[in-house]
Amino acid sequence: MRQFLLLALLPLAAFGQPNGWNDPFPPHKVMDNFYYVGTKELASFLIVTPQGNILMNSNYEASVPVIKANVEKLGFKFSDTKILIAGHAHPDHVEGDALVKELTGAQVVVGRVDEAKTKEFRPGGKDHPIDRLVDDGETVTLGGTTLTAHSMPGHTRGCLAWSTSLKENGKTYYAFIECSLNGQFLQTLDNYPGIVEDFRGTYKKARTFPVDVFLSSHASFYGLAAKYEKLQKRGPGDPNPFVDPQGYQAHVDEYEKTFEAALARRQAQAAQSKDLGKEK
Ligand SMILES: [Zn+2]
Repeated sequence: MRQFLLLALLPLAAFGQPNGWNDPFPPHKVMDNFYYVGTKELASFLIVTPQGNILMNSNYEASVPVIKANVEKLGFKFSDTKILIAGHAHPDHVEGDALVKELTGAQVVVGRVDEAKTKEFRPGGKDHPIDRLVDDGETVTLGGTTLTAHSMPGHTRGCLAWSTSLKENGKTYYAFIECSLNGQFLQTLDNYPGIVEDFRGTYKKARTFPVDVFLSSHASFYGLAAKYEKLQKRGPGDPNPFVDPQGYQAHVDEYEKTFEAALARRQAQAAQSKDLGKEK
């Protein structure tokens, strides 16, 4: 039991791909020129423009064939990918960058603060390609679509969320692609001074975005499975299930609570081991 608990606290990356995360998931239109092309759990998005496409998140290297097949199922060409926006510096979002670059020649855009960490992921010894570094507030534009980067440090120091505007039935929506608000593991507490302040600032900042379309780096963070089901049953005049401002705010609340609880447990453990040290 104890061993199980320890395992549960270790970063997922240490064990490779968690079961089922990389399974295929039906690609679909989210809204306007914005499509889901990721796996069952690891979100990737395709933004289609007249000047080529933007791909957000390559995920694991083993996810790339799944993403490529999804792009083709939607009727687009993977080789039309002109820009790859790399997710935050964890292998489940950026390990496949080199393979995407190899297959498409896309320009790889990485958050400046996550540059060094991102470069650590070199599947098969390949160098990690990085063509452009972006900071908070900078934009990526292609064929009339602009995405804006928002610094959301905590999950990684350079975690970037992205926003853009999408249209449907004559209305314009603020779409927000979250980085990750997940602070339940806190494995980086000791080698990330300031992580607590960063997370708290990020939860606060997260509430300031006027989110209509709620998307994230993990499908489960925005309840994709249930929303996809609704999308399948959507009739004319039914709301778009991805428009979910309340779901977004509830997600921020939930992850903030989880983080504070994990932090309290961690601090209690630290105090306990300090006491044990004194007894020696
Ligand atoms: Zn992550």
